[in-house]
Amino acid sequence: MELELQKIELPGVPAERPLVIAGPCSAETEEQVMDTARQLAKHGVKIFRAGIWKPRTKPGGFEGVGVEGLAWLKKVKQETGMYTATEVANAKHVFEALKAGVDILWIGARTTANPFAMQEIADALRGVDIPVLVKNPVSPDLELWIGALERINQAGLKRLAAIHRGFSSFDKKIYRNLPQWHIPIELRRRIPDLPIFCDPSHIGGKRELVAPLCQQAMDLGFDGLIIESHCNPDKAWSDASQQVTPDVLDFILDQLVIRDTHQSTENLKDLRKQIDECDDDLIQILAKRMRVAREIGTYKKEHDMTILQTDRYSEILNKRGAQGTQCDMDADFIKKVFEAIHEESVHQQMEIINK
Ligand code: PEP
Ligand code: MN
Repeated sequence: MELELQKIELPGVPAERPLVIAGPCSAETEEQVMDTARQLAKHGVKIFRAGIWKPRTKPGGFEGVGVEGLAWLKKVKQETGMYTATEVANAKHVFEALKAGVDILWIGARTTANPFAMQEIADALRGVDIPVLVKNPVSPDLELWIGALERINQAGLKRLAAIHRGFSSFDKKIYRNLPQWHIPIELRRRIPDLPIFCDPSHIGGKRELVAPLCQQAMDLGFDGLIIESHCNPDKAWSDASQQVTPDVLDFILDQLVIRDTHQSTENLKDLRKQIDECDDDLIQILAKRMRVAREIGTYKKEHDMTILQTDRYSEILNKRGAQGTQCDMDADFIKKVFEAIHEESVHQQMEIINK
């Protein structure tokens, strides 16, 4: 299904990259919300985020202040002129947020993953014209992400955007949620007109990672950033380790290098031609390799040998991995390439043997 989209144009907000949304993970108290909002507004932030209802992995954590906090968002809007954004996870949240005049809604990662909840939200939004930002689902499932966007779009909402907030993994090493950039890149390829925001706070999980992740997102052509910022991050009631003060946020945004996404590609023409020639050669070489593999298949069939010769396979992977390193390529990358080539060789030999 094609999405029917409209640009998210907000009067008073420059239509340039990056479009920045900032604010605390959660609205905690009126004082914390107002203090953070005033500082962010002073630094020129135009869109304020704060979670009112918080989906927590385990019970017992701070689950958000609820409806009471919506009045604080109203106050932020009145006093600073910033647009406000909050997360909705069910129809009740939608009604309450709309009633309170929240300007932008976002769907959290746990909700995107649940088609029933998405349909309930879409139905609650039918006939309403409000920008909706859909975070990726917790699992690396692009179809689920697109499906959630389609549900909202089918309810008649056209001002949509996606938020890339990384994907859950069992081993949390550097990142709280793995970036797996190829997934939002594929989303861009599939739906080129859909703006994509990056949420470096939830990808990184720690404040040191916010700046490099913002830069990476900008270099990949993302349209916006949604960043958690708190007037006193260490004392935050949720996601303390990943929030930055408004001053630090301002510094991070200031340091960003924004490269032009619409530059002419004329100068790249020659280099791209060379790449095309390399790719032609690669295909020819691969085809030749497969022909040889099929000949080996015929030999194995005539001599009643098994297809998979494990020693030979390990030898190829190790030898080529080491060779790749010498040629300035990552050994794991080369191994992956040879695994794929080997899989196809086995497949071709199977066809010969089963003929
Ligand atoms: C949030 O934005 O604070 C949040 C809960 O995010 P996510 O849905 O990405 O976990
Ligand atoms: Mn958070």
